[in-house]
Amino acid sequence: MSKDIFEKCNDFKNMLRAFLLNDAEMSNINSSLDLTKEEDLDYLAYDFYVGGGPINNGGPTMTSENGKHYYQFSTNDYLGLSQNKDIHDFSVEFMRKYTIGSPMGSRLLSGSIPLHRQFEAEIAEFKKTEECLTFSTGANAMLGAVACLADKEDLLILDQLAHASLNCGAKISGAEIKRFKHNDLNELEDILKKSDSKKGKLIVIDGVYSMTGDIAPLKEICDLKDKYGGRLFMDDAHGNGVLGINGGGLAELEGLEERIDVQAGTFSKAFGSNGGFIAANRNVIEFIGFWAPTLMFTKAPSALTTAVNMKALEIIKSGYRLRKKLYENTSYLQNKLLSMGFDLGDTCTPISPITFSGHIAIYLCHELRNNYGIWVSPVVYPAIPLGKSVIRVISTILHTKEHMDYFCESLCEAYNKV
Ligand code: PMP
Repeated sequence: MSKDIFEKCNDFKNMLRAFLLNDAEMSNINSSLDLTKEEDLDYLAYDFYVGGGPINNGGPTMTSENGKHYYQFSTNDYLGLSQNKDIHDFSVEFMRKYTIGSPMGSRLLSGSIPLHRQFEAEIAEFKKTEECLTFSTGANAMLGAVACLADKEDLLILDQLAHASLNCGAKISGAEIKRFKHNDLNELEDILKKSDSKKGKLIVIDGVYSMTGDIAPLKEICDLKDKYGGRLFMDDAHGNGVLGINGGGLAELEGLEERIDVQAGTFSKAFGSNGGFIAANRNVIEFIGFWAPTLMFTKAPSALTTAVNMKALEIIKSGYRLRKKLYENTSYLQNKLLSMGFDLGDTCTPISPITFSGHIAIYLCHELRNNYGIWVSPVVYPAIPLGKSVIRVISTILHTKEHMDYFCESLCEAYNKV
């Protein structure tokens, strides 16, 4: 009999069980969730992660399909723009003129509309680059751009924690791939020093790291790429709208816009919507526009999301007060968690990764969801290294002190129970 390609799917739950039971702390856990039982494993594999989700999860509260209300701390709606009334009213009005499907077609065929170009010019100005291209998701922007910028003659050098979409693009590109330890400048320099000078080199980093909340040592990385003649690609999905006086991200915060060769981002975080972008000089953008598989072979971003993202950009550019509030809330939450003894690693942004050894985060999230009406999600391998689990908590401007107090106290109580 020939091997069935679906064998891994049929075996998935056994793999999941083996992986979870490997955790030494399993035996001491006090939880209504018993992962040795088939039905609990089923619940974890499907309902907990994929199904049973909320209807509207922007803002600090949400309602699930069964009408249950939760406080939530797990979306990246940093500035609360997914709930912004002006944007909401504008989008309802906009939809009176357009259909949900417009424009039909991919950007290269019939799908480009003047609104795309207008928005792209605004983003290019915002990021202080010559040109910009928008994509239907952030992951499409990252994956497509990295996949086409490098080929088998080139070397891609990625931070070990660079986002999965960048790693997927790197794999597809066919280029040689090397990874340096997270934010380790010595390892990066070593790779650059030993690299073949005949190969084109692209360093690929995040600005703000999504699972750790820390930032890249940008100036030093720029110095290294100049010293060794490489280029730099920065995905600042979590920095755009959040860092810098005008919300221009890590590049603006550090005044380094001109030294970054490719600046990328999403509209699914601070913009509160959907989509992604790549900003760079004209030649690079024209090349990506022609070769990125995730632009050429997929439908153009919708007119509605493009118009909504333009509105969000206006708010972000003048949103100094919103960012100030975001940082006040972040300090309040992080100081409280730290004072309770929780480990937040090196975060310096509104991403608070509460880190545990073993898989405790799974049980804690289950407990918080079922007994405290709090929706947070556990992060486990492969999103983070084996042996740890994280509850990634995101503060937004819409969380009040009462929400944050309730969360911290509930987490503490649940932690003492499991
Ligand atoms: N880059 C980073 C750093 C991200 O965190 C994300 C979202 N998880 C993406 C890219 C992809 O963005 P999107 O959700 O818009 O596809």
